Amino acid sequence: MRSLVFTGPDQVEWQERPDPKVQNSKHAVVRPVVIGRCDLDVGFVRGLAPMAPGTPLGHEVVGIVTDIGDDVHDFVPGDLVAVSAQICCGECKMCRRGFTGRCEAVPFAASYGMGRDGDFGGAAADLVLVPFADAMLFPLPVGANPADWIGFADMAQDGYRAVAPQLAERPGARVLVIGGAASVIGLYAAGIAVALGGIVDYYDSDTARLTEAKKYGAKPILRGNDEPEGMYEIVVDASIHAESILEAFRYAAPEAVVTSVCIHFGDVTAVPLMEAYHKGITYKTGRPNCRATMEPLSKLCCAGHFQPQLISTKAFDFNNAPEAWLDPAIRTIATKAAF
Ligand SMILES: [Zn+2]
Ligand SMILES: [Zn+2]
Repeated sequence: MRSLVFTGPDQVEWQERPDPKVQNSKHAVVRPVVIGRCDLDVGFVRGLAPMAPGTPLGHEVVGIVTDIGDDVHDFVPGDLVAVSAQICCGECKMCRRGFTGRCEAVPFAASYGMGRDGDFGGAAADLVLVPFADAMLFPLPVGANPADWIGFADMAQDGYRAVAPQLAERPGARVLVIGGAASVIGLYAAGIAVALGGIVDYYDSDTARLTEAKKYGAKPILRGNDEPEGMYEIVVDASIHAESILEAFRYAAPEAVVTSVCIHFGDVTAVPLMEAYHKGITYKTGRPNCRATMEPLSKLCCAGHFQPQLISTKAFDFNNAPEAWLDPAIRTIATKAAF
């Protein structure tokens, strides 16, 4: 089979790999019909996020189950599914607590397509081995268009965790999203926050992203022209710039929650702890727990309140996935023509 592989900065190619097979009773094999590029993939392929040449890529997948092991009870061949970007067993202590991004049954933070330990390969491939099918797969609704659900495996969960639990505690709160390198995730956070009743301002210097944020019902604020007004109970830092942490804390209201959905790659990033102390700010970062939040987020999607696909999307033929990974568009997908 073909697997999409990072071979160096701005270089992505299909390479041949052995076909995965069901070797364990909990395994399934999925044939992707749509694959999507994550914001983190953009960092990888541009050489901004660390990745060794030769690493398989891809962790945003919707596909069809083609084979299952004897102990897979919730899925059968032919099912249309989203595949969790993270490898999770569903049974360990962390998975049972909902920390499915921190599964203890596999190497730490094991995932598809990120060069992590465990050698689970990339999900941008002709076939994907799913080691814990019942725990990792999510059934898409009957009649779902697979392309509409790209982003659901990881990016939308990342946006969800940054605003949904926070809005549940603070209904109708003002939300500020500081847009940036985590482009789609920041926009998803804005869209999900609007869907959940937040009053959302989206602050960015990128006019294309501001236009997309407006589609989701957020108020766009062009950096350099204008500034956020007042303070916010929920702040999402989707910018890779260290200064965005300072901004996020400055705009945070007393008892606010600030979440960085981007990765600050330096070992040390300045955080204004004095300001955080006085305001009583909670700061969160880290990976989302992709599988754990799929159920509640799918309800928002099925009701039409949140649409991952609303962001302008450049579609490629599946065979041309290397181009999709290198394209400057905000959101790209690669689809099998047959579907
Ligand atoms: Zn991702
Ligand atoms: Zn687990």
